Amino acid sequence: MISNSVAAPLDPAVTLPTSPAPAPVANESPAGQAGAGRDNTLVRIETRRLTALFGRNVAVREVSLFFPTNTVTAIIGPSGCGKSTFLRCLNRMHELSEGGWATGSVLLDGEDIYSGTLDPVSVRRRIGMVFQRPTPFPTMSIYDNVAAGLRVAGTRRADLDQIVERALRQAALWDEVKDRLRSSAIALSGGQQQRLCIARAVAPAPEVLLLDEPTASLDPAGTQRIEELCHELKRQYTIVIVTHNMQQAARVSDYTAFFYLGELIEIDRTTQLFTKPAKEQTEAYLTGRFG
Ligand code: ADP
Ligand code: MG
Repeated sequence: MISNSVAAPLDPAVTLPTSPAPAPVANESPAGQAGAGRDNTLVRIETRRLTALFGRNVAVREVSLFFPTNTVTAIIGPSGCGKSTFLRCLNRMHELSEGGWATGSVLLDGEDIYSGTLDPVSVRRRIGMVFQRPTPFPTMSIYDNVAAGLRVAGTRRADLDQIVERALRQAALWDEVKDRLRSSAIALSGGQQQRLCIARAVAPAPEVLLLDEPTASLDPAGTQRIEELCHELKRQYTIVIVTHNMQQAARVSDYTAFFYLGELIEIDRTTQLFTKPAKEQTEAYLTGRFG
């Protein structure tokens, strides 16, 4: 259980009116995932009754789902429905937000990332993240942006060149930057900067990549590069991508989860969810009746 993974800003005497006592449910799977991929070797990451809060406000409520290895799962839903907060719980970033805390559990390869045995820094290395706007370190060179996390982790100097090259190749950026590795990262275009951030995220060889609206600030060409990259990268990683763009979800993902008002309404194979959603709310959202 996550409970109080950070010093919770709550008075311990205060009980949340919105969270009912959890019923003892084991391996509860949402519609669309019952049976599918339940073989543990296929599940890379799983949440069980994950609830995320800001102070006393619930942003994500009781979400149980899993992400099969080497797949892309898209998370869709209207603005403010908890997509980013949910994503940030998956690598312990949420607790870094003011007032952020969570209950329930997140299992990476079957191990609870919120248990005392895993430290958050190593969790974030195993579960890389890329944000809405490209966030290269502005004063660093292209090379140093990719190498930054590796240096902190104590990677040997002799290995750095090779790892940086591999990461830039994986991010489909190597050919464009190989002759100017020492120049500033902010001279790159927005699309290149975002691929640089992907290179930085994959450099420590994570298992999971979390992408939070990674194309929101990119032009169509930059967007297409990132979408193509998702197809490439899923051969090595398990990818979770938040997008408010339904066409993008349909193009890049194997599974799609629809969130609404902090709750998981439905998750299913993308083709199924887009053509025959099980829930009325999903149908209403997909047909543009709200959001
Ligand atoms: P989405 O990514 O789907 O747009 P978010 O996860 O950002 O939604 O937000 C979910 C809910 O949490 C919203 O009601 C939002 O107002 C609230 N929220 C998001 N970030 C914060 C924060 N730093 N402090 C307090 N509330 C927040
Ligand atoms: Mg968001």
